[in-house]
Amino acid sequence: MSNERADDFLLLILSSPSGAGKTTLCNRLRSEFPKLRFSVSHTTRKPRPTEIDGREYHFVERPTFEQMVRANAFAEWAEVHGNLYGTALKEIEVARQTAEGVLFDIDYQGARQIKAHRPDAIGVFVLPPSLAELERRLRGRATEDEASTVRRLEGAKREIAHYGFFDYVIVNDDVEQAYGRLRGIVLAERCKRTRWAMRCEALLTEAKPMNVSKEIP
Ligand code: ADP
Ligand code: 5GP
Repeated sequence: MSNERADDFLLLILSSPSGAGKTTLCNRLRSEFPKLRFSVSHTTRKPRPTEIDGREYHFVERPTFEQMVRANAFAEWAEVHGNLYGTALKEIEVARQTAEGVLFDIDYQGARQIKAHRPDAIGVFVLPPSLAELERRLRGRATEDEASTVRRLEGAKREIAHYGFFDYVIVNDDVEQAYGRLRGIVLAERCKRTRWAMRCEALLTEAKPMNVSKEIP
């Protein structure tokens, strides 16, 4: 990933402890803003029954993942809850060519790596209303065995400890309200002056009025 200056391509990162609701919020964003392309990560985690290879994740074996690491194929990668997860550079390239922004569902380690290259990326941390509610949601989702559930719950405080690194925090209490806050962030970020500088400058150099309408993710 090149170290580019800010432009109107939106890089939006959602992170949270497992079970706080970021997949739920991501899915809402994806349906409302189809031009915000979801970055499909690679992982060595086994697929859940409802997951489809290439949709939620690219599911790969550890040697394949490690080979991709050696080939510098990832924009970022990390070990999370005992499995490897990474964002292939290709995901971001394709998003650049086909979309007006990219949405990452990645942990704080990945968020740090993306931000190191792209300080203009927007980090949103999703917080559960309480740790007890986090446990209820994780157990209610019923996707993990006991060992994985415990590992994820034990990791929650470690992940929350990194909240200070993010630009925004959303408490996912009521999902409608939480989504309202998230979409508010997207709408406001799209209006950031830095994202429109090129458009402003182009207008200033135009001899006559031009069509400035623009579809936005
Ligand atoms: P994450 O992607 O952060 O691990 P999920 O989006 O899978 O979390 O949500 C975990 C579980 O909690 C899911 O069963 C989801 O339906 C539920 N959930 C998400 N948001 C809320 C909410 N605001 N209130 C109650 N349950 C929620
Ligand atoms: P899950 O196994 O529940 O799908 O995801 C576990 C954790 O891995 C979540 O915190 C999720 O955000 C994170 N994750 C998913 N994909 C990536 C990725 O590509 N990179 C990093 N660093 N974390 C990821």
